Amino acid sequence: MDVHKIGIVGAGAMGTGIANVAVMNGYEVVLRDIDISYVEKSRQNMAKFMARSVEKGKMSEEQRQAALNRIKGTTALEDLADVDFVIEAAIEDLNLKKEIFKSLDSICRPEIVLATNTSSMSITAIGASTTRPDKVCGMHFFNPAQIMRLVEVIRGLQSSDETIATARALAESFGKKAIEVKKDSPGFVVNRILLPQFVEAARLLQEGVASVEDIDTAVKLGLNYPMGPFELMDYTGVDIAYFVMEYFAEEFNNGNYGAPQVIKQMVRAGRLGKKTGGGFYEG
Ligand code: NAD
Repeated sequence: MDVHKIGIVGAGAMGTGIANVAVMNGYEVVLRDIDISYVEKSRQNMAKFMARSVEKGKMSEEQRQAALNRIKGTTALEDLADVDFVIEAAIEDLNLKKEIFKSLDSICRPEIVLATNTSSMSITAIGASTTRPDKVCGMHFFNPAQIMRLVEVIRGLQSSDETIATARALAESFGKKAIEVKKDSPGFVVNRILLPQFVEAARLLQEGVASVEDIDTAVKLGLNYPMGPFELMDYTGVDIAYFVMEYFAEEFNNGNYGAPQVIKQMVRAGRLGKKTGGGFYEG
C-alpha cells in the first residue's frame, strides 16, 4: 500500500531521529508523546539537525521549513487514525508496547502496518496484542537514526510477506539499507552480538581488571570499533542496555546475559548517560 503519512509513537531520541528522516524524505508525520513539551523539544532538535543540513548544502532553507511543516505533534493517540504506517519508539518495556499496540489496533485503519523500533523484544508478543498480527513487524533503526544506515526489518511469527516488503520499501525510501531478520529472536542480529560485549565490559570494570577509559581504548584500538562499550552505552542510554540485558537473561534462560551490578547501580542512581546527564564518563 502507498505510504504518505507516518504515525510515530514516542518523541525521544529514536522517535525524533526517525521522524526527522521521514520528513526529510517527503513524508508527513504525526508524532505522539505523553507530554506536549517532549514533542516540542523533539521538533526543536529536528530543526537544529536540519539547520546543519542547510549549512552543509544538503537542503535549502525552504526545504527545511517545508519538512518542519510536515510534522504534526500530538499527545492524542487518536490523531494517528488516518496514518498509512506506524513506527512505535516508546520506551523499552514490553507491557507498555503491548498496551500501545492494542490501542493502535483499535484506532488505526485495519489494513495498515504497525511496526515497532524495539531493540530486543518479541515482535510476536507485540503482534499478539492486536487483531492484525500479520501486519505487525519490527523496524529497528540505529542511533542516531538520521545518520545510521542500517534498519533491521524483523519478522514476527505471524508477519506476512507483504508486511515485510512494505517495511523494507519504506526503510529503503528513507535511504537506509534494510536487512531481513527471518526469525523473531531476542536482540535480532546487531544487539545479539553487541549486548554480550557490554556485559563483558561491565564485568571487566567491576572485577577491577581495567578502567572505563582503558577498556574503551582497548576496544577502539584493538578491534577498530569507532566507540568503546562505555561510550556507546552513555550515548544510547544505560537504561536501554539494562533492559535488554535483563530481557536476554529471561528469554534465553541464561543469567550470564543479565546486567552486572555496575550497570544495575548506574540505573538505580539515574545515571543513564547522555539523555539524563551522568553516565560512565560524567561524575
Ligand atoms: P527515549 O527514552 O529517548 O524516548 C522514549 C519516549 O517515549 C519518551 O519521550 C517517553 O515520554 C515516550 N513515551 C513513553 N510512553 C509513551 C506512550 N505511551 N506513548 C508515546 N510515547 C511514550 O528512548 P529511545 O532511546 O528513543 O528509545 C525508544 C525505543 O527505541 C526503545 O524501544 C528502544 O529500545 C529503541 N531503540 C533505542 C536505541 C537507542 O540507541 N537509544 C536504538 C534503537 C532502538
